[in-house]
Amino acid sequence: MIQLYIPLNFLGVIYREIKQSLTDLDKMFGLLAREREVADAPGAAALRVEGASVRFEDVHFAYEPQRPILKGVSLEIPAGRKVAVVGPSGSGKSTLARLLYRFYDAQSGRIAIDGQSIAEITQHSLRRAIGIVPQDTVLFNDTIAYNIAYGRPEATTEEIESAAKAAHIHAFIQALPQGYQTMVGERGLKLSGGEKQRVAIARTLLKDPPILIFDEATSALDSRNERAIQAELEAAARNKTVLVIAHRLSTVVDAHEILVMEQGVIVERGTHAALLARRGRYAQMWALQQDGQDATAASTAPRG
Ligand code: ATP
Repeated sequence: MIQLYIPLNFLGVIYREIKQSLTDLDKMFGLLAREREVADAPGAAALRVEGASVRFEDVHFAYEPQRPILKGVSLEIPAGRKVAVVGPSGSGKSTLARLLYRFYDAQSGRIAIDGQSIAEITQHSLRRAIGIVPQDTVLFNDTIAYNIAYGRPEATTEEIESAAKAAHIHAFIQALPQGYQTMVGERGLKLSGGEKQRVAIARTLLKDPPILIFDEATSALDSRNERAIQAELEAAARNKTVLVIAHRLSTVVDAHEILVMEQGVIVERGTHAALLARRGRYAQMWALQQDGQDATAASTAPRG
């Protein structure tokens, strides 16, 4: 009896331990589920690209429940056109890009590419269709060739070099003692902001996706560099559907539509000419920039 009692008692302890562990696991998975943010819908299909038009319909989004960031944003980028978003720092411009790439899911509303909701297609097919040139490119601790080929690992040396040439970084790479095999990133050669951006452009050119997102660097490059990068971006964007998150209005003048965002709301929209004629926020930003000030200096509105 005593012999039986001890194991049973012991089992009771183990049972409680296991139950507690399961509760912890449950908590952990609950947390993980929340942190993972997005998952493929069951039976998600691959995106079928036909021109790659992009549509946001009444999109609401918050990183934290109490603090709405996008408050009902609707926009459309017709296939092969460029739409630019301007507005004060913190108004939610980059958030649009993060949602289109599905780093996060919108709380309500719909984002669709060629009529297919991005929540219902595989993330793999979505991300294959989109190239991002971010504000600050993160380089992997690997060779510069690997970093350029990242969007298309099967790319040949010739393809990598031709993308680097188009992004005007080939000569710079060739001049390095180890050329394309030079290690870059945190533990390798440090590149300047402009050089990193060129690597990102080369990567995007090589990936050749139908949709491009350019998130302009806030810190202005010197104007010669800026013009050169601008020309490269324009070449990369030909015939593609483009979302530009712009800090310099010079890059948006030719956009099909310009959206002015303030505190998560689109407060003005139209072509450059129409917005100037309107004499509203955009015209004000334009005037400030013509006076030689930064476009973002027009950010009199508080941070979103
Ligand atoms: P900028 O012009 O400075 O790049 P933006 O208009 O692109 O600004 P977003 O990056 O979209 O602004 O940010 C919008 C708001 O969301 C900001 O107030 C920012 O602090 C907040 N935000 C951004 N990322 C996160 C995050 N991961 N968690 C919580 N809040 C965030």
